[in-house]
Amino acid sequence: MKLRLTHSILLALIMVSAFSPADWKSEKRTGYIVRFTQQDEATRAEYVSLLDQGKKDVQTFFKKAYRTDFEVYIHPNRQSLDAQWQADWKMPDFKSECWMVASGVATKLDLLSPSRWKEDACEHSYEDKEKTQELITHEMVHVFHGQWNKSPDFSEVEQLDWWVEGLATYASGQCDRSRMEEVHKALVENKVPITLDKFWSGKNRYGQSGSVVMYIDQHYGREKIIELLPLSKKTELLDALKITEEQLLADWKKFVLSKRN
Ligand SMILES: [Zn+2]
Repeated sequence: MKLRLTHSILLALIMVSAFSPADWKSEKRTGYIVRFTQQDEATRAEYVSLLDQGKKDVQTFFKKAYRTDFEVYIHPNRQSLDAQWQADWKMPDFKSECWMVASGVATKLDLLSPSRWKEDACEHSYEDKEKTQELITHEMVHVFHGQWNKSPDFSEVEQLDWWVEGLATYASGQCDRSRMEEVHKALVENKVPITLDKFWSGKNRYGQSGSVVMYIDQHYGREKIIELLPLSKKTELLDALKITEEQLLADWKKFVLSKRN
């Protein structure tokens, strides 16, 4: 009995220490602080260069600086990432899907350590440097967007998944040729959703949402994209573009079909 008790106390101590804030080390960078654990002591220099590049690319895209400093947490395993999301989203039972490896809001970016993707994730390969950079940049766009949005953690954002995710997809370079080809094909086959609310769903969600933002950028210009950053409702955004959803979708469709793939 005594032995078992000692064991459970020991186990409890190990579990507490595994997630104790004291175990987080940090490094101050220009504009942000990276927090990481012992496990990433050696790899963090690589991650920091991806983060620095992402930050630079985001500011170049928007021709505008981040409003404030933010934090980046490199979680040592999925358990640590899930514990963070459970607390942030007030969903104590939340368990993430294997493809979910990062999130970004105005104040911080949470990332599952890429060194753990092989064991703890699916659909992502750290070795694919270009895609890894785009993924990091995508989250950095969310941080930037949150800093200029009325709802910094996007909790009050309504019917704008296609916009928030489309913007991060497009601005990070994820709306690439192959994704555009997929959207083109889906349009020809009449397989795209009929409302924007459904654009961020299904296997073509990146291409569908990203290409609407690409259309807005190329038709209305980058200044308009920047004007839209604070908005938190689909109706506000359509009003700002002086267009109905039906017309926007019809124009987008023409745009995608006219692009040579
Ligand atoms: Zn995203």
